[in-house]
Amino acid sequence: MAKLNVFVDGTWLYNACGADRALATRLEYPDRRFQLDHAKLVNEILAHAQRHIPKCDSIGSMYFATSVFELPVDLAEWPNERDDVTAADVESVKRSTAAREKFAENAVQAGYSKDAIFRPKLKGWMLGKLREHRFQEKQVDATVVALLVKYAITCPEDVHVIITGDSDVLPAIKVAYPEYSDNVLVATTHPDQLKVDSRQTSYALADFNYLIPPFYLEQNADKIMQGANVYKCVHCSKVFSRPNPIPRNTAACCRPCHEKRE
Ligand SMILES: [Zn+2]
Repeated sequence: MAKLNVFVDGTWLYNACGADRALATRLEYPDRRFQLDHAKLVNEILAHAQRHIPKCDSIGSMYFATSVFELPVDLAEWPNERDDVTAADVESVKRSTAAREKFAENAVQAGYSKDAIFRPKLKGWMLGKLREHRFQEKQVDATVVALLVKYAITCPEDVHVIITGDSDVLPAIKVAYPEYSDNVLVATTHPDQLKVDSRQTSYALADFNYLIPPFYLEQNADKIMQGANVYKCVHCSKVFSRPNPIPRNTAACCRPCHEKRE
């Protein structure tokens, strides 16, 4: 018997679920966030792993690596006290911190360890960088790789999945754990979805040999979305969720397609 250990770059996963990003392109309204069900995702990856390695039949350790700002109590005063901070910056960082907090909380509820969730204190100089989308998180990808390699070496019978969009971490795994191809699996968005400008420097997934092929998140959008009643449109195959089940004799049709047909 073997377990599946799960290592997530939570910051990347949060961004991949953003409006108009890889997973949202599968939604009936792609300008909304994709509502990911963390537990469904882990179970789908387990089923995928088991199709290739049948003895892999249960979930082992799960780490969700991300950083969520700890906001200072006097944050509301910053725009009055500092020339480089606006009220809009404060609103924006409050909103995004709350959304990331919720995403991380959902992950913990699904069974992920809290140990790789960092709480850096928000500093004034960070706001300008956040505004210009130039703020770089440092620890997250290194943490994911370090944990995966530790588990791969100490539990060589298990299967280990890294959920990341950054194929630049793969050479590090290959060096630290040369047997990676036997039992390490990558879950990511399809390479077509990677930013064109990062393609030059990134290592291609295809440059690595795996026994278990990559798990592509957006190709499984209907299976990993929150909700008891998730459907794929029979016309355009976009994915949507409804509060109540669609009757069995009715075709599942998304709202944009339905409106076009009226
Ligand atoms: Zn449709």
